[in-house]
Amino acid sequence: RAKADGRGTFCFFRDEMAATVEARRILELDLRKALANEEFELFFQPLVNLKSGKITTCEALLRWNHPVRGTVSPVDIIPVAEDMGLIVDLGRWILRRACMECMKWPEGVSVAVNFSPQQFHQRDVLSEIRYALEVSGLPAHRLEIEITESSLLRNTQLTHDILSQLHALGVRISLDDFGTGYSSLSYLHNFPMQKVKIDRSFLEGIDTDRPLTLLRGVARLSADLGMSVVVEGIETNEQLELISADGTVTEGQGYLFSRPVPAVRIRQLLNASHGRRMPDDQLAVVSF
Ligand code: C2E
Ligand code: MG
Ligand code: MG
Ligand code: MG
Repeated sequence: RAKADGRGTFCFFRDEMAATVEARRILELDLRKALANEEFELFFQPLVNLKSGKITTCEALLRWNHPVRGTVSPVDIIPVAEDMGLIVDLGRWILRRACMECMKWPEGVSVAVNFSPQQFHQRDVLSEIRYALEVSGLPAHRLEIEITESSLLRNTQLTHDILSQLHALGVRISLDDFGTGYSSLSYLHNFPMQKVKIDRSFLEGIDTDRPLTLLRGVARLSADLGMSVVVEGIETNEQLELISADGTVTEGQGYLFSRPVPAVRIRQLLNASHGRRMPDDQLAVVSF
């Protein structure tokens, strides 16, 4: 296409590329400063047990409060942090902060922390996790690590060993975004995992027959393999009813229950969910 349009277009592409490279360089510089400047924040989003309606777990989701750009999405942060090698420091901060926050919650509630492939395959991943539990005082069974298929498919023997050791430690492993990759669940089941989070793309058009059949199939298979099943991205009561119907799905997560919220707010939601008296009256009850 550049050829057909002649020289001018080519120059335009080159300028655009230079601009992209420059933007990226600035982003990297900003990211390096962000940890020291305490610009990162963890939001939390509940996972709700569909039978009891209680919050079982809260997932930590990274936010970057950039002084000029405003809130930057983790989707833009994590890949850049991985390329820069900053993911180890950032991941350490996230893990410790998440464990410390969980210590302020009712005892039955766990915290889920996302691990990027690079973070999961760093040499010291086990000591990082052990140390975070130690400094925070959080019991291992209240920590859940979310990894994706791509983490499992890399360096499989080593991955298996790490997961086994985490399992022995009492930390739970959750397979995030399941269904977006190409691996079969029966293969993935060779790894010690306790939970499958079915990607929210399975909810799209759930009112037409096919996607619901798919979702139910994946949910049943996970359950038959002994894993608990979460559906992510539940936004409507209709979706909730459909996925709750056959009792296979254990937990749900999505805007219907709550959007990701700041730490202060999640404490309020947890107190409400666990029947404690609220310090203030401005609480919006989790709606479902
Ligand atoms: P994820 O782990 O699958 O997290 C779920 C994402 O879906 C979150 O986006 C959440 O805000 C969004 N979501 C939840 N419920 C709904 C819903 O009902 N509807 C819709 N449309 N979206 C919903 P978020 O916070 O932007 O995070 C995006 C991804 O970035 C995460 O996907 C995760 O892969 C990654 N991420 C976030 N925080 C961290 C982190 O601390 N460490 C690492 N390594 N990755 C992170
Ligand atoms: Mg996740
Ligand atoms: Mg997910
Ligand atoms: Mg996702």
